[in-house]
Amino acid sequence: MMDRIISSLIDFRAFANSFLSNYEPLALLLAPLLTLFTARILQSLCLLVHDNGLKPTILGFLITSIKMVPGVKGYIDAEKQKVVEKLQSGSKSKRDGWRSELPKEGLGAAVIEKLKQEKSNDVVWQGKCSGTVYIGGSESEGHFSLINEACSMFAHTNPLHMDVFQTIAQCEAEVVAMTAALLGSKNKASGGEICGNMTSGGTESILLAVKSSRDYMKAKKGIKTPEMIIPESAHSAYDKAAQYFNIKLRRVPVNKNFQADVKAIRQQINKNTVLIVGSAPGFPHGIIDPIEELGELAYSYGICFHVDLCLGGFVLPFARKLGYPIPPFDFSVKGVTSISADVHKYGLAPKGTSVVLYRNHDIRKVKTIVLSVTLGMSDVCLSISNLDPELAVQMLMKDNILVLLVLTTLPGIAELVFSSLTCGSLV
Ligand SMILES: *Cc1c(COP(=O)(O)O)cnc(C)c1O
Repeated sequence: MMDRIISSLIDFRAFANSFLSNYEPLALLLAPLLTLFTARILQSLCLLVHDNGLKPTILGFLITSIKMVPGVKGYIDAEKQKVVEKLQSGSKSKRDGWRSELPKEGLGAAVIEKLKQEKSNDVVWQGKCSGTVYIGGSESEGHFSLINEACSMFAHTNPLHMDVFQTIAQCEAEVVAMTAALLGSKNKASGGEICGNMTSGGTESILLAVKSSRDYMKAKKGIKTPEMIIPESAHSAYDKAAQYFNIKLRRVPVNKNFQADVKAIRQQINKNTVLIVGSAPGFPHGIIDPIEELGELAYSYGICFHVDLCLGGFVLPFARKLGYPIPPFDFSVKGVTSISADVHKYGLAPKGTSVVLYRNHDIRKVKTIVLSVTLGMSDVCLSISNLDPELAVQMLMKDNILVLLVLTTLPGIAELVFSSLTCGSLV
């Protein structure tokens, strides 16, 4: 048996050598190299088409080729410059009379008259700017004036120092808890550990959720070249997040009903996917994505799923209460790992307020610890003093270097952490 194999191997060797002796040695050397090179180009081309789609790839190729024709690039650049100049000259005339330096003498109380006069030239938006300002009525009455009075009481606080400004700290904790309760935190399926914080707007909430998801997936799965998948209808904040946090963004066309296309999203998932996104509803169409199906998809792949409730967070819970048939959209849905909800939209609060919520402390924690360890010393102080107590305990237990740092070089801060520990959990 063994002899037969050896003899047929010897035969094969003789045959192969006599066959190859028909070719030049140089050709034999170059052929595999050339094949490898061609395969490499084909692979890059396939990747390009896979990432960008066939049409955009061909279009991009055509445009690049056309620009290579002598004179064409110069012509396009000149035309572009003309448009830029036209735009700039337009805004310049509007800016005539704008102050560019401090006045020699302060305006004092006269500043109010001046502002009133300038404001009278603005367009009349009150109650007429859907998707821009969400409170109806006039600023001097009703809900507007109530909010103005409350806000003016705390306009000069610094919420970073929650030991000094305890009322503000309590307000944040209550807004977060109440928003969470509206969005399923009391539902058993939520796991009962929903946590979060307030931010300056929907974009910041989304940025934080994306960063937390990226870092959580790095800790959990070791993903180092993260990718996220969003429906085309998702807000531009995800593009920002992808650029800020170095995440590859895959944008998937919506289906014929303008909803996130679950099947198409599934096809884009790979070993680097950290996050998928659904909106309820999305800003461009006001249409709710199939949150339950997306949740199931994310859960089955063990990846994060952010539900963008920036617009719907303070509408859908009440619409459901009124008896409208609202599909599941919040933490009661399995697989949802974070949610953003804008208080400054249908929460009817002033601009600059939003809430980001996480399924549990594990997802939020990554963000905070990474921040604390990588930033400079002063930022370490800031992020520790700004921690909620439960998180501080977790950090102290897990991050011995930080504990050492805190105890040896920053005794004041250590005190602050321990004093906040005794306040009990806020958020
Ligand atoms: C408004 C909105 C955002 C972003 O909110 P900003 O507060 O403007 O930063 C994100 N997603 C959706 C669906 C929105 O409607």
